[in-house]
Amino acid sequence: MKITIFGSGYVGLVTGACFADVGNEVLCVDTDEKKIDRLKEGEIPIYEPGLQELVTDNSRKGRLRFTSDSAEGVAFGLFQFIAVGTPPGEDGSADLRHVLAVADTIGQKMDDYKIIVDKSTVPVGTAELVSKRLLSALGERGLSIDYDVVSNPEFLKEGDAIADFMKPDRVVVGVDNPRTKELLRTLYAPFNRSHDRFIAMDIRSAELTKYAANAMLATKISFMNEIANIAERVGADVEAIRLGIGSDSRIGFSFIYPGLGYGGSCFPKDVQALERTSHQHGYDARILQAVEAVNYEQKFSIVKKIKQHFKNELSGKTIALWGLAFKPNTDDMREAPSRRVLEELLSSEAKVRAYDPVAMGEARSIYGKREGLALVETSESALRGADALVIVTEWMVFRSPDFEMIKQELSTPIIFDGRNIYDPDLMEQLGFIYYSIGRMPKG
Ligand code: NAD
Repeated sequence: MKITIFGSGYVGLVTGACFADVGNEVLCVDTDEKKIDRLKEGEIPIYEPGLQELVTDNSRKGRLRFTSDSAEGVAFGLFQFIAVGTPPGEDGSADLRHVLAVADTIGQKMDDYKIIVDKSTVPVGTAELVSKRLLSALGERGLSIDYDVVSNPEFLKEGDAIADFMKPDRVVVGVDNPRTKELLRTLYAPFNRSHDRFIAMDIRSAELTKYAANAMLATKISFMNEIANIAERVGADVEAIRLGIGSDSRIGFSFIYPGLGYGGSCFPKDVQALERTSHQHGYDARILQAVEAVNYEQKFSIVKKIKQHFKNELSGKTIALWGLAFKPNTDDMREAPSRRVLEELLSSEAKVRAYDPVAMGEARSIYGKREGLALVETSESALRGADALVIVTEWMVFRSPDFEMIKQELSTPIIFDGRNIYDPDLMEQLGFIYYSIGRMPKG
């Protein structure tokens, strides 16, 4: 099949590469010409495991191409996927500017029947808005061309995006035309072989499904952080509690890891956008508000402990920070807890030496030359002369470090672990002062 994808970011590029890999012809369109030039040269602008190989292979075979020419994109595919960003607007609601710009482009340039598939995360009612924009653009051209608008939210996770797309838990499609539903079923058939994962529903429900999923996962995280905060105050161990509740199959182990709160390009904005949607429809979404409030506070939790330890005297102190990406296996720093931790430390006049295995380029583009902040090339050099180490992202490579080396490099052996990746008893044996989340300090 012929597929056009608008937006070559984390979702668009993965979607394009995966559709090409199962034999479709895919044209990826992006307004960012530099990004398209890099992609044409075989360079992947983001870090996503396995994506480089998939893009290179399918580009070489001619099934995956890139352009910044939107007219070429509209002319190419029967399926016109919209996978552009939907960042939060000023009031927290989703900013649909890019989605609607694509709808206008398609309406201004289409000459035959198209299926417009909305893969971006968008509020309920967006498919109707897209449809109106198409109709009006066609009207201005004095044309009446048939089209369908479909909602097909994406559930992939950065860091595991290709596996998630190739072997999805489900493919949700909101569609009101039975023929289009069958075409989408065929399009997704290669990813739907072991059992039927194709879930078709009405368009509004599909749009809301994506927000419901992200809000549920964010709720689990905030819930567990709340339990961690309670555990700390009553002298209990949240890691024992995690085992105790996760083993209940109704609860499960995923998304109940206490830490520094959720970040990234999806949970924060999607929880906020759903709350705004509820508000606009006269409903006060109190659980969502609480999820957000707990998350906001949680990002400060480790800095509070640092300040407490140093008796609010951070001026002249140097803190080594491991982990800048919002989670392991990505270079994405959008809404990353590290950014809040960094800002808090810098505004308390501490110096920070920060390291991340893949997000250094992203960090340099965000911070440039920032007073008090050194972005360093190795985890070891981050430690040099620092008064304490803070773990912000739970990269695998931080899980079993050379603790003797850490002790030698730090001027005082103190670890603030925002992800509970070390065993408090071991830390005590090794002579560290060790703070973590939801467990009593050791050392
Ligand atoms: P992104 O910012 O990485 O990429 C968006 C791309 O769209 C950019 O390259 C931008 O240049 C391009 N773009 C903007 N306007 C355009 C236009 N008019 N025509 C063509 N290209 C245009 O965004 P992302 O992380 O891939 O997210 C895209 C959507 O998917 C969002 O709605 C997001 O909420 C949703 N989503 C993201 C994830 C994720 O893990 N990142 C997962 C599921 C869903």
